[in-house]
Amino acid sequence: MASMLFLGWARSDAAQHTAPSGKHSSTPRDTHWDYLGVEGPEHWSMLTPKYMTCEAGRQQSPINITMADHGQQPETLEFHYQTSELHELNNGHTIQVSHISECNVALNHHTYQLRQFHFHEPSEHHIEGKAFPMEMHLVHQDEGGHILVIAVMLTIGADEPVLGQLWQWLPKQIGQEVSLPLNLSIAEILPKNTRHFSYSGSLTTPPCTEGVQWIVLEEPIHISQQDVDQFVQIIGHNARPVQPLENRHIEEN
Ligand SMILES: [Zn+2]
Repeated sequence: MASMLFLGWARSDAAQHTAPSGKHSSTPRDTHWDYLGVEGPEHWSMLTPKYMTCEAGRQQSPINITMADHGQQPETLEFHYQTSELHELNNGHTIQVSHISECNVALNHHTYQLRQFHFHEPSEHHIEGKAFPMEMHLVHQDEGGHILVIAVMLTIGADEPVLGQLWQWLPKQIGQEVSLPLNLSIAEILPKNTRHFSYSGSLTTPPCTEGVQWIVLEEPIHISQQDVDQFVQIIGHNARPVQPLENRHIEEN
C-alpha cells in the first residue's frame, strides 16, 4: 500500500520533471513529443508554447563538456543511497526506475532526495566531443523543489551487477510497470570515484525547464553491448543533441 502511494506521488511530481508521459499520456495537458521526425528535438518548441524554453533558453542541456575550470572552492558530494524495493516504468521515452527507501545526496552539505533514475542511448552529454554508449540520470530534488541531476556515463563492458538485474526486468510495453522481485542496492550502481564536472543547465526533455544543477561524473560504469541493444529495441534512441554552452562555466571537482 505504501509503495502504491509513493509511486502515485512520484509520477505526478518528479517523474514529470524529466520524463513527461507522452505516448501513454496520463493527462491531456501533455503534448506529445519524440526524438525523431516532426516531433523531434528541433521541433519541440513549436509543438506547444509550453515548450518554448527548448528553443529560447540560453542554459540548455545536454552540452559538450570541455575546457572545465578547476573549482574555486572544493565541493563535497556525498551519496546516502540504500538498498530498496524498485519499480521500473516504460514511459515511452525511457525506462524510469523508482524506489521506496530514502535515498539522498548531499552537495556541499545541502540535501537533495533521489526521486527516480532513468537512461538515455546514446549519452546526452559529450566529454571532450565524445559521446558514450549510454547515460544514466539520477534525478534529485531539495525541499524547495530545486533539481539536481547526477549523470553517469555507461561504457561497454561486463554489466555492473545492479544494471544486469534491472535489465532482466525491463518493461517492454509503453505504460507497463514492473516491480522487481528483489531489493537492490542503488549505491552499488555508482562509480567509486566521485570526481565530476558541474554546470547549470536544464531538463533534457520538454518543457526543457532551466535552473537545473548538473553533475556529470567522470568515471563511467559498464554495461554489455547486448543490454544496450535490448534498450534500443524497447525504447529506441533517446538522446537530445548537445546544446550551445553560451556564457556558462563548467567546473571540475
Ligand atoms: Zn534524462
